Amino acid sequence: MKVIESFPAARFELGGAPAALVPTMGFLHEGHLSLVDVAQEAADTVVMSLFVNPLQFDRPEDLESYPRDLDRDEAIAAEAGVDILFAPALEEMYASPPRTFVRVDGVSEGMEGAHRPGHFEGVATVVAKLFAGLRPAAAVFGRKDAQQLAVVRRMTVDLSFPVEILAAPTVRDSDGLAVSSRNVHLDGAGRSQAAGLSRGLFAAAAAAAAGERGADALEALVAAEIEVSGARLEYVTLADAATAQPLASLDGEAFLAVAAHVGDVRLIDNVVLWPDGSADLGTRLEGPSLLGRS
Ligand code: AMP
Repeated sequence: MKVIESFPAARFELGGAPAALVPTMGFLHEGHLSLVDVAQEAADTVVMSLFVNPLQFDRPEDLESYPRDLDRDEAIAAEAGVDILFAPALEEMYASPPRTFVRVDGVSEGMEGAHRPGHFEGVATVVAKLFAGLRPAAAVFGRKDAQQLAVVRRMTVDLSFPVEILAAPTVRDSDGLAVSSRNVHLDGAGRSQAAGLSRGLFAAAAAAAAGERGADALEALVAAEIEVSGARLEYVTLADAATAQPLASLDGEAFLAVAAHVGDVRLIDNVVLWPDGSADLGTRLEGPSLLGRS
């Protein structure tokens, strides 16, 4: 595996070969590695980008406390079979303060967009820069960030990027909690509160499988589990998978998304639901997550 820090050097290394890109902010875990698996199926060369993008953080303290460990990430990425680890410094990504931003109307506005002003503009801008600078044939994103996936898909179409967008299922710990770099900030009590998010989502998916279609009823099931767990609910919304607009009932591919606070840690999760009652709840790890590996 080569570690590369500049766009021209990465393009030189690729030599025009079709590559699949896995964009990440590092502190790698199994969720990221499942994206690598999808990327390996899509192309012979896998580029993982690792960049903690200041533009997408709405709270300075969140950016500050975001876990970082390049040596650890290098070892994990190499073991996973990543060919190029693209780890640009801030100056490579934003040589001078940027004056051009990508804003995806509509898809970006509810849920995460409403609670994290500027977040999706930061995401869309950095993903556009990665597409322009690395010119991948495909790029893989996690369903864990379902609204982000919808934003990226829409941006790719609207800006005519010749990049195939692929999605990978949400990877969960054995207790159901979606694996996230932010989980390293949870203590024992926090973890059991955090498990309320997935418990609520699974309860709603079971209700949908049993015939429930109403958004209010599905959302209420999630809210109830979160209340029992002691986490603080921020929002729970049934949304259209492509437009991320709120739905009154489950009548097309949708995701039921939730955000909640456990102490200072903000967590998001979702399940994908279809009107025939089927669901994508993600996959579960059998053993402890890599996040235990410091
Ligand atoms: P991040 O490093 O948190 O920006 O995430 C980078 C990519 O990994 C995004 O496409 C995320 O959706 C994806 N991702 C993060 N956590 C998970 C997870 N638990 N399961 C699947 N994909 C994930």
